[in-house]
Amino acid sequence: MANCALCEPTSQDVLWQDDFCRVVLLNDADYPAYCRVELLAHVKEMTDLPPADRARTMRVVFGVEAALRETMQPDKINLASLGNKTPHMHWHVIPRFESDKHFPNSHWGEAVRDSQVQPLSKAVRDQLQRVVAERVECALES
Ligand SMILES: [Zn+2]
Repeated sequence: MANCALCEPTSQDVLWQDDFCRVVLLNDADYPAYCRVELLAHVKEMTDLPPADRARTMRVVFGVEAALRETMQPDKINLASLGNKTPHMHWHVIPRFESDKHFPNSHWGEAVRDSQVQPLSKAVRDQLQRVVAERVECALES
């Protein structure tokens, strides 16, 4: 589709990818472990996918969630699929901390404090990539 950012090759940090979707680590200053699962094909809604591909999508999302819980020990995981601005199926997987800038609001909501977040170290980023691969591949085998 023309003018769709997610149809283009990504400039984000790709943690994992297969021939169906990719897991990217967004470079978000307030949410350094914020990941997104992006389908490679331009698909608008989950129900545009055959049931097996819906399940495959969610296995990847849950694999990323598990990896973020293991690696980051967040207070909460937020999952979101909106796509109003970019109607190309993607899931936001966001580790949330009670001390983060918007908690308990949505990370798109009203900020309630200053951000105190450090960028991910290379060691943590690499650990996250390793655990995402393990958890996603395990989820896809189940
Ligand atoms: Zn697209």
